Amino acid sequence: MPDTTTKEGSPEVVLSMTEVLKAGVLSDEIDLGALAHNAAEQAEEFVRKVWEASWKVCHYKNLPKWLQDNDFLHRGHRPPLPSFRACFKSIFRLHTETGNIWTHLLGCIAFIGVGLYFVSRPSIEIQAQEKIVFGAFFMGAIICLGFSFAFHTLSCHSVEIGRLFSKLDYCGIALLIMGSFVPWLYYGFYCHFQPKVIYLSVVCVLGVLSIVVSLWDKFSEPGLRPLRAGVFMSFGLSGVIPAVHYSIMEGWFSQISRASLGWLILMGLLYITGALLYALRVPERWFPGKFDIWFQSHQLFHVLVIAAAFVHYHGITEMAMYRVMYSECTVPTEPITF
Ligand SMILES: [Zn+2]
Repeated sequence: MPDTTTKEGSPEVVLSMTEVLKAGVLSDEIDLGALAHNAAEQAEEFVRKVWEASWKVCHYKNLPKWLQDNDFLHRGHRPPLPSFRACFKSIFRLHTETGNIWTHLLGCIAFIGVGLYFVSRPSIEIQAQEKIVFGAFFMGAIICLGFSFAFHTLSCHSVEIGRLFSKLDYCGIALLIMGSFVPWLYYGFYCHFQPKVIYLSVVCVLGVLSIVVSLWDKFSEPGLRPLRAGVFMSFGLSGVIPAVHYSIMEGWFSQISRASLGWLILMGLLYITGALLYALRVPERWFPGKFDIWFQSHQLFHVLVIAAAFVHYHGITEMAMYRVMYSECTVPTEPITF
């Protein structure tokens, strides 16, 4: 079947509406009398329903300019769907965004579940202070994944809505990075108040800066993909400085260093791999048109983000348990001496 662009008011849409209308009349589903007396609203509601149900996926070249983002994905794109209802219903249809939507929707639900479980523990088990520190991470993860889900669902609504949600999507990434730093710095510099406050302040400044950059209109342009990956990667990688500081302070091979740095490095590798796939658009770059629906770079990036967030959660849990077990600030550092 040839690709059809279902733009509002286009001849194809009018034609398919007429077909549906005829079919409806024949099957007695539509009360013609009522339709004839109808007020404009009812006709409008009818047209909207028919149109929402009848859109077809289309080819990249048939997309309007504002929806053309990745030319290595050929078929299966959603046409513009200027209705929130239609966008949310498109979650249940198969197109280039289906995988992106579901990966972060499920990730978001998973983090809401883990977050609620964590904060609802009795205070003998987990103290309020711990809950606040972990809460920053949970909030970052939930907001990031939630905004990402909303962006991928609503990106085809209209230029304005698409732009607004892409900005929120980027702000979400900045919040996830900020939220990830909070517990790490808190437990890493548990007994060192000054560096803790300095690093947390720097993270806040860098976070606000990346949010400001994210709000810039041009930031979401397809050509600036490497810049976007670069901004968030450098923000994340700025964590190397406190990590090195921490390792020198605690000893590179101490028990706590090994535990927390191991997970931190794994998290970093997952994020970097994700960001590189995203920036380079691998694998669809090598096989254009072969990863339109599944396993495109953006989906892999989404899965790696979730994996990295869970690895980080595990890492900060270990750090927190170590700190709680070895009572406050009398932590034996036990560096291995050569
Ligand atoms: Zn995304």
